[in-house]
Amino acid sequence: MFTLTHRDGAARRGVLQTAHGAIETPAFMPVGTQGAVKALTAQHLEDIGAEIILGNTYHLMLRPGDELIARRGGLHKFIGWKKPILTDSGGYQVFSLAGRRKIDENGVEFSSHLDGTAYVLTPERAVDIQANLGSDIAMVLDECPALPSTTEVIDKSLELTARWARRAREHFLERKKKSPDPFTQVQFGIVQGGTFRELRQKSAELTVSIGFEGYAIGGLSVGEPNETMYQVVADTTPLLPAGQPRYLMGVGTPIDLVEAVARGVDMFDCVLPTRNARNGQLLTSEGPLNIKNAQFAEDDGPADPACGCYTCRNFSRAYLRHLYMAGEMTGGTLNTLHNLSFYLDTMRRIREAIAFGRFEDFRQGFHQTFTRRALIS
Ligand SMILES: [Zn+2]
Repeated sequence: MFTLTHRDGAARRGVLQTAHGAIETPAFMPVGTQGAVKALTAQHLEDIGAEIILGNTYHLMLRPGDELIARRGGLHKFIGWKKPILTDSGGYQVFSLAGRRKIDENGVEFSSHLDGTAYVLTPERAVDIQANLGSDIAMVLDECPALPSTTEVIDKSLELTARWARRAREHFLERKKKSPDPFTQVQFGIVQGGTFRELRQKSAELTVSIGFEGYAIGGLSVGEPNETMYQVVADTTPLLPAGQPRYLMGVGTPIDLVEAVARGVDMFDCVLPTRNARNGQLLTSEGPLNIKNAQFAEDDGPADPACGCYTCRNFSRAYLRHLYMAGEMTGGTLNTLHNLSFYLDTMRRIREAIAFGRFEDFRQGFHQTFTRRALIS
């Protein structure tokens, strides 16, 4: 399923095969929270070269419901996207519903943010929902403790996550055995452990001993300093099987992607490029640019002179600023097209640099150019 083709230091390049096509890694997955990458169509995503997108189980199970999607032939058919989809377990969003959720050994009970309806999400139920959605890669339900927490709290939490992971794996394999149709979905385990090295190690050992097709590093990018996150990633990746994909959940900024690849990560997802696009922040080769700034009102240049995306080939900063100021939806679409193009292009350049054995040069150069604007202003 996963083939490593090149290594350069700890950075890896590979190909992940799924039933809906191949994904070149390191890969960035645009986030399609409610069955849509906000402001874009599936055609846009194909045009900019997205090879996989992420769907949020929590949102889809509540609305329109995973059973309804299953009756429409699954998520790919429902949303008109033929390439791979990864679904999260729904846990992350449920655990962020502070005050509206209750955790016990069985799972987590919560009330919907939409209408207050009570739901129970268990490790088995998370497997069933993602089977209904028919994603290519399913994630196990994990507990996401708030940081900072004490070692005792994180330790108990990772043990619960490991017990849930075992239940999820058993249920997944049972479904696979009984499935009358070819069962092509794969399942990733999640390593937790906060920012404590010994707890990350314990969680990695417990999770790897269960045996999954891939492994995620969860519970990061939740407010800890960047250097701490990089250290946790550096400590964790050597504990994961070398021949399987590694996914850093919910990360991150362009610099974070480069730094995590340097520490052996293969897959990423983050709402940052899409969310920031709608808020008027363009991520460019020379750093972030806030299109609402008055200085762009009569700027005829493209958002990013180094970018060849549809937005940068056809529209000026002045026009993008106008659309933003006027609240035009097209502005959100053009900004999102650019930001995701920048992310996907960065991943392409990373893969190329790894293949040519010059990832370290790329990394240094990226740091220099991406911080240029901040240094000038
Ligand atoms: Zn562009």
